[in-house]
Amino acid sequence: MSTATLSFAEIKQRVSIEQALPLVGIALKKYGLQLRGVCPICKDGGDRAFVVTPAKGVYYCFGKCRTGGDMLTLVSRIKNCSVREAAEFIAASVGISGKRSEAEATVPRDSSPQPLSGKEGLKPLEYLLSSHEAVQALGVAAETCGHFGAGFAPKGIMRGRLAIPIHDRAGTLLAYCGRAVKDETPTLIFPSGFRPDTVIFNGHRIEQGDTIYVARDPLQVLLAFEHGVTNVVSFLGDITVDALHVLTVLMDEKDVPSIDLI
Ligand SMILES: [Zn+2]
Repeated sequence: MSTATLSFAEIKQRVSIEQALPLVGIALKKYGLQLRGVCPICKDGGDRAFVVTPAKGVYYCFGKCRTGGDMLTLVSRIKNCSVREAAEFIAASVGISGKRSEAEATVPRDSSPQPLSGKEGLKPLEYLLSSHEAVQALGVAAETCGHFGAGFAPKGIMRGRLAIPIHDRAGTLLAYCGRAVKDETPTLIFPSGFRPDTVIFNGHRIEQGDTIYVARDPLQVLLAFEHGVTNVVSFLGDITVDALHVLTVLMDEKDVPSIDLI
């Protein structure tokens, strides 16, 4: 096995992200299907801001990093080295050897696009651009846009923003919110008449019995999803009494045992 050529994919196949964590001194606690702890990179966001989803082999940080990736990305960020050096470090640490294939220069990203569920009330906007550069600059890939039905709006009232569909708990499309793509203010805009504190974004996708992260910005939900974390919802504006009520109803309905405000 010593002279075999090990690709990034092979290393990831043979070493799990859970096995890699202790190699770089990361100890996390198990919460359901996730492992959580302090972010070893930015140390920001509290003691559950860093989340690893072993089933998908990826991590995400809700703290300052606001990004994530696979095991190789994680090790390279912690050791401040290249992804290739991270791969060699992991391989050496667990006793597998071989040179990485030159052909495999990029780290595959976990993305499993799923169509938006079909029970819309409002008609989805057909003209949104899922692969617009302004959206990519936010760190949101086209596949993630596809999953959420979001995209850059070249026209309409959300023009120049990332339009993100908002659903009620039953999955009915209610409206779109427009998320700033640079530093436009306000960060979120809504159609007139829509009350953002009556909905918890992404609540309809939460699985029964899941613990959930509650963010302040729907963009966090998209970024986390991109890195394997699917149990995230967000407020769409100020945390009013009404917004807290909606969150409580969601928690009751989905049997959510605990939440983490991030
Ligand atoms: Zn971090």
